[in-house]
This record gives sequence, C-alpha cells and structure tokens, in this order.
Amino acid sequence: MKVYTVGTSSAVPTSERGLAANLIDFNGERLLFDCGEGTQRTLMKEKLGIMKISRVFISHWHADHFSGLLGLIQTLELEGREKPLYIYGPPRTEEFTERILDTGYFNRSYDIFAEDLVEGEEVIGEDYQVIPFEVEHGINAFGYVFQENDNVKANKDKMKELGLGESPKIGELKEGKTVEWNGNKIEPEQVVETVPGRKVVYSGDTSKCQNLIEHAEHSDLLIHEATCLHEMISDRRGHTSALQAGEIASEASVAKLALTHFSRRYRGKEEELLEEAKSIFEDTELGQDGKMFDLSPHRPE
Ligand SMILES: [Zn+2]
Ligand SMILES: [Zn+2]
Repeated sequence: MKVYTVGTSSAVPTSERGLAANLIDFNGERLLFDCGEGTQRTLMKEKLGIMKISRVFISHWHADHFSGLLGLIQTLELEGREKPLYIYGPPRTEEFTERILDTGYFNRSYDIFAEDLVEGEEVIGEDYQVIPFEVEHGINAFGYVFQENDNVKANKDKMKELGLGESPKIGELKEGKTVEWNGNKIEPEQVVETVPGRKVVYSGDTSKCQNLIEHAEHSDLLIHEATCLHEMISDRRGHTSALQAGEIASEASVAKLALTHFSRRYRGKEEELLEEAKSIFEDTELGQDGKMFDLSPHRPE
C-alpha cells in the first residue's frame, strides 16, 4: 500500500507545490483525497495513471481542495473512461458536483455519482473502508479514515497441534464461532490470528480538534495540515500550526506524521515547520508533491 502527498500548498499554489490532494494506492485501486489544482500533472509525473482512480473524497468545498476536479473529469472523458467515478464529501457535495458538471460544454463517456456523507458513514470498498469524521473549519468539513480490513488467518501449526488438519471447521472458527472437533470444543482464539489492517488518516483543513485525535488513534500515517508556525496561528482560524500537528500526532499515538497544506509564506523555509512539529513528535516528515509513503502490512499480533 502506497500513500502519496500529491498537492501540499494551501490556498495558492507555488511553482513547487500544487493545491491539496493525496492519493492512496491500494490493491491496484486509487483513492484520491481532495483534488486541488495541479493534481493531474503531479500524478502524471509520478506515473500514477488517473484511470485507476475509482473514488474521490473531498474534505470540504473550499476551492483549494476541489479546483482540479473539472480538469480530472475532462481528462477521464478524453481517455475514454467507461467505469463510473464516485465523488464523496460533506453536505452539498452532490449539489456542487452537479454545478461543476453543468459548467461549459463537455461530453462524458462515463457516469459520475456524487454522495453527501455524514460522520461515521462508511464507504465500503474491496478490503477497506473510508470513514468521514467532522473537523473544525467553520464550514462543513471532514477528515477521513482509510481503514484496511483486518486479516483473519488460521495458524497452520496450531491447527495441526489440535488435529484440525484441513478441517472444514476453519471457516466457522474464522467467523469467531466455537466448534466441536473429534469430541473437543475448540475456541477461535486457539487457532485464529487477527492481523490488524493498516490505517491512514487525512485531516483536511481544521483547527486542532479532539474528534480528529480520536479518529486518528494508532494510525500508521497521519497526513495533517500545518498551515503555519505556531506564532501565526491566532491569524489562521480553522487551521493548525506545525506545533499543534505534532501534538495531535503524539496525543493520537500515530506511527508517522506527514505535514501538508503549507502557507506560501513558508516557501523555501518549510524546514521551520518540520522542526516545530518535530519538537513534539519526532517521526514527522514534510509532505512534498508526489512524495510516497510505503506502508508495509502488519504482522500477526
Ligand atoms: Zn485549504
Ligand atoms: Zn479550507
């Protein structure tokens, strides 16, 4: 599973950074989280073909988070896409998507389905779910949890020990049921191991918020906005400083923090943001456009 920070500038792009976008590449499927201006070109540079994008999750409808959507929709048409594209987001996502589709003249070879989500409403995919949660940004705004399904496996050695061999009962044990085998009762815990799925959380735009800390708990990677240094945060309502992003990562006990959504005021000085976050949470990296974070599968507990 590979995660990319695709666009890492806030509000206005710079020559080095496009507007907000992140991509999860999971089992050959690509999920896009926000689609700011510049998203397509960065994906092309990284050879991340856009045709594999199945779903787009918009964190909120500020233009720096969706301004690349019209271009993406158009390119998919020109490339002859046939399979549908799903667009999810906070309330009014359906309405805003319809307006984008009603802008200018363009054809479409495929269907677009837009859906307004509410907090906690899971979008179920092949072996994963995406769960929106509310954040604090002054308008309807979500962060998202990407959660890979847990992998429930039978331990072959333990099965042998219990004389289960290739027993058909294994399916029931995996479902958590107690079974009878050769006159003995076997509990699922005796044979079944659960490997927890990987978890990635994206903050969208938000001030430091408890709901996010709770949803980000124990994630493998937290992609969090860090619009400015802490000294500026009182001027940036609805946003987070690098220091606060570090606090959030620490309070949520995440494995790694990737910073994104930098104000152009820090152009060329992004290291200052990194240092500030690192003073609280060591395992922090700066997001760059096209930077990849490789998350290997967990081992059995
Ligand atoms: Zn923004
Ligand atoms: Zn915003």
